[in-house]
This record gives sequence, structure tokens and C-alpha cells, in this order.
Amino acid sequence: MNIILLGPPGAGKGTQAKRLEQERGMVQLSTGDMLRAAVKAGTPTGIQAKAVMDAGELVSDAIVSGIIGERLDMEDTLKGAIFDGYPRTAAQAESLDVLLSERGRQLDFVIELEVNEDALVERVEGRFTCANCGEGYHDKFKLPKVEGTCDVCGHHEFKRRPDDNAETVRTRMAEYRAKTAPILPFYEAKGLVKKVDGMADIAEVGAQIDAILDGKA
Ligand code: ADP
Ligand code: ADP
Ligand code: ZN
Repeated sequence: MNIILLGPPGAGKGTQAKRLEQERGMVQLSTGDMLRAAVKAGTPTGIQAKAVMDAGELVSDAIVSGIIGERLDMEDTLKGAIFDGYPRTAAQAESLDVLLSERGRQLDFVIELEVNEDALVERVEGRFTCANCGEGYHDKFKLPKVEGTCDVCGHHEFKRRPDDNAETVRTRMAEYRAKTAPILPFYEAKGLVKKVDGMADIAEVGAQIDAILDGKA
């Protein structure tokens, strides 16, 4: 099964993708994570992407479709791909169709996380992740069970993203509205879109997604 999780920054895409990895053995393909890894490694792609990401704008379609294509050639993605943060433009949506069909694969669902934008700044500003395994947390909505210790791997260091500040989030939301939301009709025409209430708590959003994947919604 191959699915897209679609929603603005802070909608809960990464949280749900990580859960699906843990519970269903699917594989999260987050272009944001891949780009941050490229920035950290100082690759040519990373050097090009850094300033754009810090500003909250979109990296070029050619770069992101290139890294997704490479990732899809790795065998683990046959267990089921969860596209998180990709596609983000009409051109990327068209590229993804080609990348999948070239490999004899197809999309099963596009799951739209419906959220109230006003709540997202708080979600993004309170976000942090385990510096070792990447598990996501929140200052208010999802604290580690034991303070200062990652639930998943027991690590004690956490990190925050430089672009998770109120000002950059506003730019990222505007990018979502202008360039990403308009790809929904493309998928609606294919009958692939399923909506979930992204304002519900994390477990409830998970239950709604599970119902879709299990063919019960
Ligand atoms: P995205 O990948 O869509 O940008 P995340 O999954 O990283 O979003 O979630 C953003 C922040 O909000 C994280 O700190 C996460 O723990 C928290 N979060 C995710 N889903 C919910 C939810 N349904 N209710 C409250 N907080 C949430
Ligand atoms: P969030 O889910 O919080 O919006 P991401 O981790 O998905 O954050 O993305 C962080 C940044 O990486 C984006 O603001 C953008 O600069 C860049 N980026 C990630 N995915 C894409 C993509 N598919 N197309 C263009 N830029 C991207
Ligand atoms: Zn961890």
C-alpha cells in the first residue's frame, strides 16, 4: 500500500507516519527529513536547500522529485510507502505519478488531515524530536513518559528545528495554501482522497487513519 499524508505544517503527518511505521511496517518517506539530512551532511543538494528551508519557502521540484525517486529504488519501500510532506506542488504530484508507474506501483489513498490553522502555530512551536531516533514530541500535547527520556530508544537528548518559529511557520502555511492545497482536486478526480479530523487527539487521528487503511471508512 502507498499513501500520501497531506496537510499543512504541524497537521500531524510525521506523528502518524512514525506510528504507521512502528505498527504496520510501512516506510515513511519525508522529504523534509531527507532534506535536513542533506543539509547536515553538507551535500550539494543540502547547500542549495538550506537558505530556502530556513525561509520557509519550497525547495525546487526537481530536487525533491529526484530524492524521492532515489528513495523509491530502495527495496524497503516495497513494504508500503507513506509520503509525508511530498508532493507539495502540482508538478510534484505529476512527477510522483510517473515515478510510481515506472516502478509498477500506485497510490492507494491520499489522506487529508483537516486542521484549523490557528492551532498549528502552537503545535509547531512546541515540537521537538529525539536527537537519536527522531521520535516526535510536543511540550504540551506529547511529552515523553519519563521526563527527559525518549519513549522509543531511551536517549536523553532532543532537538528543535530552526524553522519551527512563529514567523517561518506563517510563510510555510502560506506556501501550503498557495501551492499544496490546490493539488487536492487532482487526487479527488482520481477518487483517492480521504479526510480525517486532524484536530482530534493523536490517538483518535490514528484510529481514523487505521479505519481507512483497513477499508472500514
Ligand atoms: P507535521 O509532520 O504535519 O508537520 P507533526 O507530526 O510533526 O506535524 O506534529 C506537529 C507537533 O504537534 C508535534 O510536536 C506533535 O507531537 C504534535 N501533534 C501531532 N498531532 C497532534 C494532535 N492530533 N494533537 C495535538 N498535537 C499533535
Ligand atoms: P512541515 O511538515 O513542518 O511543513 P517538512 O519537514 O515537511 O515540514 O518541510 C520542511 C521544509 O523543507 C519546508 O518548509 C521546505 O522548505 C522543505 N521541503 C520539504 N518537503 C518539500 C517538498 N516536497 N517540496 C519543496 N520543499 C520541501
Ligand atoms: Zn529516541
